Amino acid sequence: MKLYDVYPLNPIKIVKGKGTYVYDNKGQQYLDLYGGHAVISIGHTHPHYVKRVEDQLHKIGFYSNSIENVLQHQVAELLGKASGLTDYQLFLCNSGAEANENALKLASFHTGRKKVIAFHNAFHGRTSLAVSATDNTKIIAPVNQTDNIVFLPFNDEEALENTFKISGYEIAAVIVEGVQGVGGIQVATDNFLAKIRSLTQQYEAVFIADEVQCGYGRSGAFYSINSNGIQADIYTMAKGMGNGFPVGALAITCQIKPWYGQLGTTFGGNHLACAAALAVLEVIERDNLIENAAVIGAYLISELKKIDKIQEVRGKGLMIGIDLPLELKNVQRDLLFKDYIFTGTASPNVIRLLPALNLTQSDADLFLDKFTSRLQQF
Ligand code: PMP
Repeated sequence: MKLYDVYPLNPIKIVKGKGTYVYDNKGQQYLDLYGGHAVISIGHTHPHYVKRVEDQLHKIGFYSNSIENVLQHQVAELLGKASGLTDYQLFLCNSGAEANENALKLASFHTGRKKVIAFHNAFHGRTSLAVSATDNTKIIAPVNQTDNIVFLPFNDEEALENTFKISGYEIAAVIVEGVQGVGGIQVATDNFLAKIRSLTQQYEAVFIADEVQCGYGRSGAFYSINSNGIQADIYTMAKGMGNGFPVGALAITCQIKPWYGQLGTTFGGNHLACAAALAVLEVIERDNLIENAAVIGAYLISELKKIDKIQEVRGKGLMIGIDLPLELKNVQRDLLFKDYIFTGTASPNVIRLLPALNLTQSDADLFLDKFTSRLQQF
């Protein structure tokens, strides 16, 4: 029997995790700076998380979405508190792609329009609309190719303005990552985000912030786009929201036409998922993890910028891209197999750091030390 090949697999078999460390089947410990692709927000097997999910499983794990689930209200309340949103609607689903799919659908229902603006190097997921708005022709099946998505250069205010001038009233939504993740850690400028905000307001289109990877505290703020007071109409989330349990969501802040019956999901917002989401929000608040992400992230970025052999360091909080000259692209492999440090990639020569938000100063120093020595050997 063979598994369907989706990802290139490395031979390491992870069987255990604790905090910012994971362990393979031979007992080898690894520093986890990848977090299973930005999913592990509060660390592996966090005691509060394990207990809350386990306790919930003993009570009830799932019941239908057509029956009121008080845990969903608790998630909405805590999420509002953590993100600063006071007046919003929450729709719970199961993944980032599903969140974006629903956000785009909702924007189209609301405006009655078909066109969506997305950006070069964007990644929004692999379901129908989400993949159409993803700038990677390799993963867009012929059935998902559509002229309704217009791709513009990221951080280019002029291109955005020109497109709105020509077809502004046909545009249902602009979807943007505050920090592009899969696209190689590219940070949206405040001016660019402000331009998206003003144009979507002027033309009554919906501003969707895809915070699936960069959100939930990772950037050092709850939502990455919120600097300078910029607010989106819909925020989409997933990854860190469940710390490994599949939970996604839309936070809808704008006045939107009644949408009940237009969106739906069997599993979304089930009791177990809510318990996981609540545990994450409780730990983020109790342990000041957003501030920790800001502080440790800024420290890592400033220390990395001092290293000669690195071409460029980009990022915000604990979402960091290290651009290496192409000839050093194998550094990542040695970091994993010789230094026992998990990192991610974006394009062959960008190392991505997406660790848990409770990464410590000594974890950061361990990485800096090993990474500097490793670079010297290339
Ligand atoms: N949006 C962004 C910004 C992402 O990085 C991802 C996943 N890499 C997704 C959406 C899709 O999320 P999921 O894999 O949970 O569907």
